[in-house]
Amino acid sequence: MKGDLKMIKPSEIFGSKVFNDSIMRERLPKATYKALRKTIDDGLPLDPAVAEVVASAMKDWAIENGATHFTHWFQPMTGITAEKHDSFISPTSDGKVILEFSGKELIKGEPDASSFPSGGLRATFEARGYTAWDCTSPAFVRDDSLYIPTAFCSYTGEALDKKTPLLRSMEAISKQAMRILKIFGNTTATKVITTVGAEQEYFLIDKETYTKRKDLIMTGRTLFGAKPSKGQEMEDHYFGTLKERISNYMKELDEELWKLGISSKTKHNEVAPSQHELAPVFSTTNIATDHNQLTMDTMKKVALRHGLVCLLHEKPFAGVNGSGKHNNWSMATNDGQNLLEPGKSPHDNAQFLVFLCAVIKAVDEYADLLRLSAANPGNDHRLGANEAPPAIISIFLGEQLTDILEQIENGEATSSKLSGVLKVGVSTLPSLPKDSTDRNRTSPFAFTGNKFEFRMVGSSQSIAGPNFITNTIIAEILSQFADRLENAKDLHSEIQSLLQETVKNHKKVIFNGNGYSDEWVKEAESRGLPNFRSTVAAIPVLVAEKNTSVLSKHGVLSKTECESRCEILLENYIKTINIEALTMLEIANRQIIPSVINYATDLAASINTIQATGVNADTSVQAELLVEVSSLLASLKKNLKALEEANDKSSEMHDDSYKLGCYYRDVVFEKMSLVRDDADKLETIVDSDVWPLPTYGEMLFNV
Ligand code: ADP
Ligand code: MG
Repeated sequence: MKGDLKMIKPSEIFGSKVFNDSIMRERLPKATYKALRKTIDDGLPLDPAVAEVVASAMKDWAIENGATHFTHWFQPMTGITAEKHDSFISPTSDGKVILEFSGKELIKGEPDASSFPSGGLRATFEARGYTAWDCTSPAFVRDDSLYIPTAFCSYTGEALDKKTPLLRSMEAISKQAMRILKIFGNTTATKVITTVGAEQEYFLIDKETYTKRKDLIMTGRTLFGAKPSKGQEMEDHYFGTLKERISNYMKELDEELWKLGISSKTKHNEVAPSQHELAPVFSTTNIATDHNQLTMDTMKKVALRHGLVCLLHEKPFAGVNGSGKHNNWSMATNDGQNLLEPGKSPHDNAQFLVFLCAVIKAVDEYADLLRLSAANPGNDHRLGANEAPPAIISIFLGEQLTDILEQIENGEATSSKLSGVLKVGVSTLPSLPKDSTDRNRTSPFAFTGNKFEFRMVGSSQSIAGPNFITNTIIAEILSQFADRLENAKDLHSEIQSLLQETVKNHKKVIFNGNGYSDEWVKEAESRGLPNFRSTVAAIPVLVAEKNTSVLSKHGVLSKTECESRCEILLENYIKTINIEALTMLEIANRQIIPSVINYATDLAASINTIQATGVNADTSVQAELLVEVSSLLASLKKNLKALEEANDKSSEMHDDSYKLGCYYRDVVFEKMSLVRDDADKLETIVDSDVWPLPTYGEMLFNV
């Protein structure tokens, strides 16, 4: 192995491809640097003259780092990122080129917006869209291009992307949280930021098996596949030792991410075979979101270099755990105080309790919006199944905080239960200080010491949606609290009654038990908590009056923008299921049925051949198999026909997206599962040499 293993020095490579603060300080004139920082830190408008100087320094730095092009990098409603590369070259009269990059090019781009989802926001003849430099997220060099993070909006200023509402929501929550901090006498903080660490789950499978599966290629998930003889029941994969091939992959992935300034921190095997996880150190929401997009993209690219394919779909394999993304969320002042840090005695930490109660109230009142923020067709296979939190939003607080809230409800909180020390019972092992909250892996929104972990989010989703919703709904409750406390005659007693009321009215959303149990579904229903079982069911909440009004009140999304997003989500659902149905038809008709016919023919030939010998041999096994295979084949064909007809019929309702979405969910999707049942049964009896698709066993245990 000598010479094979490259030494990585994280401190040397970290951020080496990023136009970060230290590069800016080094390369920008002092006044320019200061002006830019004012825009980044305090949100002051950017002077075009400043942009001109920054652009020039950025270009020089990028060229030194191998860039020949630049691109505005944005996050349209497809959920993935978009980029169009322009080179720096500008021809001169003597037949040569010089390299140029202007302030205008840095600040503004004009991509054709008509080819991105807009949900009817603009007619195709009004194709113009703009990208605008987001200087709060640093530019970076990747594959010969300077990447400039940007927001994307229409000619009329409506957001066409995921970043714009996120940035708007960060301003909204900062404004409202600052009001609360002022009430508590804080004079040092000037801004409140929301912090996010997104744990990313993914699968890695061998590229050779992947290329033989049209379903994985076209839809990201397997539409067929019988259960393997071994799944995840041995519980031997989670935190298991990393195979060399995987470990080499992870090493290169870390290296690529570190260069981009992404603080990839934790890596381990996940519960399902071939499933893994990566977690970064948390950062500001906007940067965490950009970084998560880059992480997903880099995961896929690096995988190919190792002959692997990275699957980010929420449910690539039926019957095997799917993938999610844990969105760890908190808020902090710009001078570093985590506002969800309970401290040693949370019962007399009034400021913490106010922020905590704001979160509780927000999550209870806007549970529908939060649920929607984690909805996509892939996640429909997880939420409510036995592996991901249910589709019901609830909060886990743990023993200590639950006890304090009970005290508040009954009067005033006077004590905090101590968490104490954990004794392991071996004298050479250290005593471990216990965390004040135990883990509850079944809660969709769990307090984990000094942050909340939103565990519903799907692995392929952009975290922008969940975060702009979280920020906005909490901003709203903070604004209500601030209105009340700012006018209080006796602050102490007003806080006391505010907390008491909040606990009384919203404790129904707190649930510390097993969220995966059937009893909880019933219990939640009796508490009046909403349970949106599918994406289609959840989508219309975006245009519910209470939700459009909170989003527009805080300047995050206008009513029109909400309506257009609702339309985009429905369209996405419909298209996804339609593609799945068509892919299924193709695989079944062109791969599975011909193989099964070949096998049936072989069986028949075997019977004939043996009988023709005149030997009185028993051919009953072949005969039985032939009957079984033929009847499953007939059933498969019948179900395929039904699927095809159902899918065709959808064109009759193209003018009502919601109705069409329901139709795809209730009719087309159901017919797909009938087709799959027959095919999966056939897979278990047909000769493995004839079966046209790599099996689950081959995909999941082959790396
Ligand atoms: P787990 O046991 O769920 O893996 P960790 O403590 O490892 O929990 O943290 C998971 C993620 O939470 C990491 O990305 C971490 O950086 C992030 N995190 C930690 N503190 C905060 C915070 N204050 N705000 C946002 N995210 C945080
Ligand atoms: Mg976690």
